[in-house]
Amino acid sequence: MSDLRDRVRGPLAPSTGVQRPLGIDDVEIEGGPFGRWQAINREASIPLGLEQMEKSGAVPNLRLAAGEGGGSFQGYRFQDSDLYKQLEAVAWEHSRLPDDAYRAFVAESAALLARAQRPDGYLNSHYQMVKPDKVFAELEYSHEMYCAGHLFQAAVAAARAGCGEELLAVARRFADLLVERFLVGGDDGIDGHAEVETALVELYRLTGERPYLELASKLIDNRGKGLIADSGMGPLYAQDHLPVRAADTAVGHAVRQLYLEAGVVDVAVETGDEELLACSIRRWEDLVATKTSITGGHGSRHDGEAFGERYELPPDRAYNESCAAIAAVHWNWRLLLATGHGRYADLIERTLYNAFAASTSAGGTRFFYVNPLQRRADLFEDAYLGRRREWFACACCPPNIMRLVSSLGHYVATTDDEGLSVHQYVPGTIRAGGITLAVETDYPWDGRVRFTVRATPGGEWTLKLRVPAWSAPGELTPNADGYAELRRAWKPGDTFTLDLDLTPRLVLPHRRIDALRGCAAIERGPLVYCFEQIDQTADLEDLALVPDTRLRAVRRDLPGLGSTVLIEADAVRLPPAPPEGLPYTPQNTPQNTTAPTDLPARTPVTVTAVPYYQWDNRDGGVMRVWTPLA
Ligand SMILES: [Zn+2]
Repeated sequence: MSDLRDRVRGPLAPSTGVQRPLGIDDVEIEGGPFGRWQAINREASIPLGLEQMEKSGAVPNLRLAAGEGGGSFQGYRFQDSDLYKQLEAVAWEHSRLPDDAYRAFVAESAALLARAQRPDGYLNSHYQMVKPDKVFAELEYSHEMYCAGHLFQAAVAAARAGCGEELLAVARRFADLLVERFLVGGDDGIDGHAEVETALVELYRLTGERPYLELASKLIDNRGKGLIADSGMGPLYAQDHLPVRAADTAVGHAVRQLYLEAGVVDVAVETGDEELLACSIRRWEDLVATKTSITGGHGSRHDGEAFGERYELPPDRAYNESCAAIAAVHWNWRLLLATGHGRYADLIERTLYNAFAASTSAGGTRFFYVNPLQRRADLFEDAYLGRRREWFACACCPPNIMRLVSSLGHYVATTDDEGLSVHQYVPGTIRAGGITLAVETDYPWDGRVRFTVRATPGGEWTLKLRVPAWSAPGELTPNADGYAELRRAWKPGDTFTLDLDLTPRLVLPHRRIDALRGCAAIERGPLVYCFEQIDQTADLEDLALVPDTRLRAVRRDLPGLGSTVLIEADAVRLPPAPPEGLPYTPQNTPQNTTAPTDLPARTPVTVTAVPYYQWDNRDGGVMRVWTPLA
């Protein structure tokens, strides 16, 4: 097992679990949306991010802390974390396709960080330059451990990518300081923004240094005891309202809750703590059933970037921060490795293809922070029109997106004692334990996935293929975990073809989701669809879907988006709503009548939907995922 741990070039290397992850370099992605996203990430997003590290102040701030350069501190107190996430993205990219420029960026950054780091190991340019007397004194909102966590993850990535000895040394000095103060020293401080927990566990996995795991464990079990001072947002915001083992639902700031859950699963797996694992799974089940957008997005409230109540899932005000989608993938991946259950891979797929992929423009240089399911003609957020932007003052999302895209190969397949499991269907090659498997597919546009064994260690082994919950049961019966099992004495040249049913589906919301009542959405395979004004012949706000409409999949090239599959559906154009007076009228007035005699007032039209992740790439018009039924 330790051999595998040392060898895995990926974000996660648990010492135990039902499934074992592969390295980024064990999976070559060749085309399909994942391949396109990785190519654009490398060609456009990462160069933009590297430029922004200077412009946004992230690197200049650290120069200041190192006593180099002039000016004053720029940006937020967590500005350092942008550089750490960017470093992680670059390290995984180097792991995928080695490049001297990436290696040099990691080396230069590590050298700068080493110069900026205090002799005792402390490193945070904001507190060093702006508030040196407040170090670790306002953890409820300081993000000092949050930033440290992203440093640790960057260092783990660089070390596993073979370009990070110096960065790892910086990270360990800081981690040792945290251990000295918060574990050995007895300080019960906890960062208001969870993140360092999962990072400490990974640093432990890399180095074998057990105090890192013990500190992560302490931070988790001390949460919910009122040890985090009120930042002004209340205890739920930072998940400090209840002990982690007692909480039964996700609350507060969505990204914090989801990063915390990743740390909870990590600690549970490394300490064999079944109770801790069970409480996370309990919250997962509640979250999926009551607080998850159809796109896999999380966070119903702009206020506090927070989860709402159960079934509070407004399409227009959905927050669905891009970072929450990323954190959800991290959490689900940990649960998948720990339990082997395909439902986590299903949610990873839904999140990646929808909530996550929509965060980035087709060209890779514009990003959403917030991912709503509806945009009206007059939608605006603060001073901008609800469109993707090049960068943000609070730029947590873009470099976070980049680190996940660079590491996508890690989330495709795993091994166990029986063989190889494939969780995500992408064209390319998977290598693990003497097995080489070629995957040919045009998924998710086409449901056929063809596997060819190129090499095998000999003897019998099992190829496990995830059968998505949305796929009609075909000739393959999935096991209890949701995987079709093919156990054979595979020989080189053997093939197997999986056919997934991509018939488009009209989907209705749970009746308790008041904000969506009377509406339907369209899905095909893993993709959620939306309507954009640009594709319609009438005002989208006056259209209603015919409940028994046949949904027609149409392959087409769209400018800027390449080849995609659109869905055509039957709809009616409703009479315009009265323009004056209150927008509430008695039941028996004409605009509320649905009797068949009034149907001539409704003009039949054909409406066209595009994959949600491709929206906002053409104009800034109206969009909706959920559409009223006629
Ligand atoms: Zn974010």
